[in-house]
Amino acid sequence: MKIAVIGGGASGLIAAIAAARNGAQVAIYEKMNRVGKKILATGNGRCNYTNMDMSIHRYHSKSIKNAEAVLNFFDLYATLNFFEDLGISPYVGELGKVYPSSLQASSVLDVLRYEVQRLGIEEVTDCEITELRKNKDKFSIIGKSGSFQADKVILATGGKASPQLGSDGRGYDIAKSFGHKIVETFPALVQLKLEGKYFKRISGIRFDGTVKGFTNKGVVREDEGEILFTEYGISGPPVIQISRKVIEELNKKNKVFVAVDMFPHTTQMELYDILSARFGRIGYKSIEDGLIGFINKNLIPVVLMESGFEDLKKKCGKLNKKEIYKIIDILKGWKFEVTGHNTWQQAQSTAGGVDMSEVNPKTLESAKVRGLYLSGELLDVDGDCGGFNLQWAWSSGYTAGYFSSVV
Ligand SMILES: Cc1cc2nc3c(=O)[nH]c(=O)nc-3n(C[C@H](O)[C@H](O)[C@H](O)COP(=O)(O)OP(=O)(O)OC[C@H]3O[C@@H](n4cnc5c(N)ncnc54)[C@H](O)[C@@H]3O)c2cc1C
Repeated sequence: MKIAVIGGGASGLIAAIAAARNGAQVAIYEKMNRVGKKILATGNGRCNYTNMDMSIHRYHSKSIKNAEAVLNFFDLYATLNFFEDLGISPYVGELGKVYPSSLQASSVLDVLRYEVQRLGIEEVTDCEITELRKNKDKFSIIGKSGSFQADKVILATGGKASPQLGSDGRGYDIAKSFGHKIVETFPALVQLKLEGKYFKRISGIRFDGTVKGFTNKGVVREDEGEILFTEYGISGPPVIQISRKVIEELNKKNKVFVAVDMFPHTTQMELYDILSARFGRIGYKSIEDGLIGFINKNLIPVVLMESGFEDLKKKCGKLNKKEIYKIIDILKGWKFEVTGHNTWQQAQSTAGGVDMSEVNPKTLESAKVRGLYLSGELLDVDGDCGGFNLQWAWSSGYTAGYFSSVV
């Protein structure tokens, strides 16, 4: 039996391996000049390939039960074993994130490609597939550089995130041509643009804190870690983490805000005690000088102006309780309105995709056409930042590869 895998990303590579191990003759058709380009960019070049704290609550989909069935079939431990067998020793970092112990994303791609070659899987690169047809029992796979035939097809073309690495959403058109519905897509895991006067001035400043996204109905998501001010707003792992929920609200035309806490482990009262003692000791200094050594120097005038101070030369010793609390309000709850987000180019994942209710959740075979399987980010499943998206790529790819090749 000949199986064609369209897309040689994380999901397509593992699908091809699973199918070939079952004895199928497999070919991968990849648009870029080599397979697995996105894998090399993951985890800042270290490839956070799964997470020890696996839970369905880290995933988002309109058909979460179907996603769960797939994640349970080829689960965290199956993934760890699969990669151990190929030579990847896991290293568990903060928050359960799993990396290869070499800390090189290239190791993950190297071992996958080695296995692809060992199993005799054909790799056809520089081959963008533009159309897929089914004639009786065979598929015609039509590409810019030729046409191919197969008995079954696994569509693993990814979503729309980071199109410079190959995934530009073309796979949705192919799925649509067989009658599949696409759940509305939007960039997930992406930086947020905020309303604010001072971003150019404070761009580049980093701190460990929390960021909370909220609407007038309450908090949508909160996360903690290193936050970075940028020219357009904020970035950093916790911002990326909350972005999906924030963008979901923006898409509903709700007003969304973020609040940043630069001292998440210090209460307002503790911070008051710290600051009033500090200002007491150096009462002769201006407030502008009085915060040097406490927060980033470039942040001081901006924090003071946002706290309502017009005279930054005012002496620390002259500050009253209300004025100190105004500074604390900014340090512990600086609020900004969210005006947007960065583009698909910067996004790490795609929310939405091919409707999961139109695939068999056990096998990932299309409910619209027999012999077509779908996997990876192309489907309406996305995960949190932290190894959850690659886990979905492995789980869904393995499932599609395995069941497409069972005779
Ligand atoms: C910068 C960055 C960092 C990330 N870091 C992490 C991380 O550390 N951990 C984590 O879990 N997730 C991470 N992700 C997300 C994760 O990489 C993706 O969710 C995952 O790679 C999706 O796998 P996929 O195989 O479904 O799609 P992709 O990896 O996008 O692969 C799809 C492949 O199909 C090819 N293709 C597309 N259209 C066609 C066509 N018409 N014809 C032929 N080929 C086609 C593409 O060129 C591509 O090679 C990161 C993403 C980015 C962009």
